[in-house]
Amino acid sequence: MDLFDLHCDTPFEMYKKKTGLLDGPLHISLKKTERYPRYAQVMAIWTQHSLESEAAWEQFHAIYRDFISKIPPKKAALCRSAADYRQAAALGKRPLFLAVEGASLLCGKLERLSVLYELGVRFLTLVWRETDIIGGAFDTSEPLTPFGREVVKACFALGIVVDLSHASDAVTEECLDLAAAAGRAVAATHSNSRSVYPHPRNLTDEAAKKIAACGGLVGISMAPQHLDEPGEANIQSVCRHIQHDLSLGIGGHLAFGCDFDGIDKTPAGIRDVSDLFKVAGALKKEGIPDETLQALCYGNAERFILANL
Ligand SMILES: [Zn+2]
Repeated sequence: MDLFDLHCDTPFEMYKKKTGLLDGPLHISLKKTERYPRYAQVMAIWTQHSLESEAAWEQFHAIYRDFISKIPPKKAALCRSAADYRQAAALGKRPLFLAVEGASLLCGKLERLSVLYELGVRFLTLVWRETDIIGGAFDTSEPLTPFGREVVKACFALGIVVDLSHASDAVTEECLDLAAAAGRAVAATHSNSRSVYPHPRNLTDEAAKKIAACGGLVGISMAPQHLDEPGEANIQSVCRHIQHDLSLGIGGHLAFGCDFDGIDKTPAGIRDVSDLFKVAGALKKEGIPDETLQALCYGNAERFILANL
């Protein structure tokens, strides 16, 4: 199986634990992905939410510098465009994309979005928890702020993918309307199904279908607390979320967004990225055709990158 994963927090963990990308103790290392003939990864830079916004901006740059310095140039490449992706793949390098998780580090300064773009950031998870200068997260019912609305529109104009994971239903709905009006695709890079497990971090069927309708992506996460009852999450739970999303008819817009290195615990049977093939194996046993599996594991995300970056 190939793997194109839409979300991990590995850069922060590499920075905090002073480890490398090639090999190491984290959920993700290039060595742990060797079993996947093709592997591409969106790497999110998450900054500590407890930091004051300006300190978070500083910390982003520290994590960014650390991460860029640790990309082994012969094995992986930071990609900013479809052309970069094609080149990396042709050279046999693992294509990496950069995301920022939590846009509050913009500190109300829209021009900072262009700085992020210049640095190669191509995905922006708008909010994380509670309400901030962008709008409400999943644990609130708050909509976008006027600044948040400007950020979303500026992302569409620049070519940064708006990521709705962590957003409140009100923010999600408004962003989907803005995306439809602008003719842009958005993603929920690491969000499971609320119909399968009723956690507010998970997507409603309506939101998942609208994300697909705009040409976007929904990434299935391995966060146990979003998959199943406490202590129950396992490979079958992951399959239930995928099967449900397939039943909605959005199989052409599904991918993985595992949230590795952003979650303390993993579902039973999945230690790290090297075990993800087990999910594909379980789905195959449940009768999911190879073509659907290949689209889920790689093809859908690849098509999205080629169309949108
Ligand atoms: Zn997250």
